[in-house]
Amino acid sequence: MGKTLGIIGGGQLGMMIAEAAKKMPQDVSEIIVLDPTENCPASQVGATQIVADFKDKDAIIRLSEKSDIITYEIESGDSDVLKSVEKNAEINPSPEALRIIQDKYLQKTFLRENNIPVSDFVKIENIEDVKNILKEFGYPALLKARRDAYDGRGNYKIDSENNIQEAYDYFKGQKLLLEKFVPFKMEVSVIASRNTKGQIKTYPLVENIHEENILRQTIAPARVSEDVTKKAEAIAEKAMTVLKGAGIFGIEMFVTQDDSIVINEVAPRVHNSGHHSLQSSETSQFEQHLRAILGLKLGSTKLIHNTIMYNILGSKKFQGEYKPLEISEDNLFLKMYGKKISKPLRKLGHFNLVGSNGESIDQLIEKLDTLKPKASVQSI
Ligand code: ATP
Ligand code: MG
Repeated sequence: MGKTLGIIGGGQLGMMIAEAAKKMPQDVSEIIVLDPTENCPASQVGATQIVADFKDKDAIIRLSEKSDIITYEIESGDSDVLKSVEKNAEINPSPEALRIIQDKYLQKTFLRENNIPVSDFVKIENIEDVKNILKEFGYPALLKARRDAYDGRGNYKIDSENNIQEAYDYFKGQKLLLEKFVPFKMEVSVIASRNTKGQIKTYPLVENIHEENILRQTIAPARVSEDVTKKAEAIAEKAMTVLKGAGIFGIEMFVTQDDSIVINEVAPRVHNSGHHSLQSSETSQFEQHLRAILGLKLGSTKLIHNTIMYNILGSKKFQGEYKPLEISEDNLFLKMYGKKISKPLRKLGHFNLVGSNGESIDQLIEKLDTLKPKASVQSI
């Protein structure tokens, strides 16, 4: 008899975890998601939904009473509440790992204390702190919300003294940190996993291209030297050995101008830059996450095919219902998330362009350029 899996968050990440779970009926017999949006993506693929806010304590208690094991697709959960329901269900990654990771200041302090490279950062208590630290950091610098940020929405880039007040006011009293700007050559990430028995496996280094602070495409593998790959993978493994908890962790890094590696942030969950694994690898990150939290042996993380993942984002020009995308091509795998309404830059789906015939990354990029117009979202 399989276990009942509870997932906090039933968006696209919860949906793809649920789909992977459906393929493991011996291990997972039922899936329940907690999500505030009725008919959320995960509920469309066979998960039962509790409709409630992610932070609704009673709903989390209810979820824990029904579940054998709980995981999450968002890092904004209340770690104290999760800790308090550990007697009902096993929670992975652990509430303690979540508590550290979900606060960018605590996370970076923790990484720095463990000799893992991060960019310079300072905790901000008031606007005077911002002014003083900028004298040392110089411009540009990033003012960031410590918690609940996603898709760059918790960041404000300060370019000059004239921006300081505006940046500070933008956050309306939230807890903040200030970070030195890293003039990176490339953004990369490693999807890493640890199972409850301590086995660790990492996926190969990938390259991430952002547009307007949102991930637009991931190139697997990253176009960097073997030396950079080795350095980044070693840092990711080191981060995994110090952070507790089982599951997938998305480790975002910068490659600096002199080819050093700096961690930007760690996400305690499956990660957008790991979606390529659905077709590029023997084990998808979603299956791997389940294997990790269920204490099963981790699957192979070998990259079988060069692959580019391209996100389908809502058009900036409208909000509302949109036409189904018509995009079919050899070795292109389109995955839409079942969201009825498009909003500017909302993640509506993605596709993987897979080099099944041994195509190089350059060949895949060329092919992608011809497909991009078909990936634009149009109003109905
Ligand atoms: P996401 O949900 O996309 O991971 P987030 O809201 O948690 O984003 P960050 O990862 O902190 O935000 O930043 C988003 C992007 O902003 C980064 O991917 C990077 O492009 C840029 N950025 C963040 N911090 C820095 C920095 N110190 N120097 C230069 N660029 C940065
Ligand atoms: Mg990020």
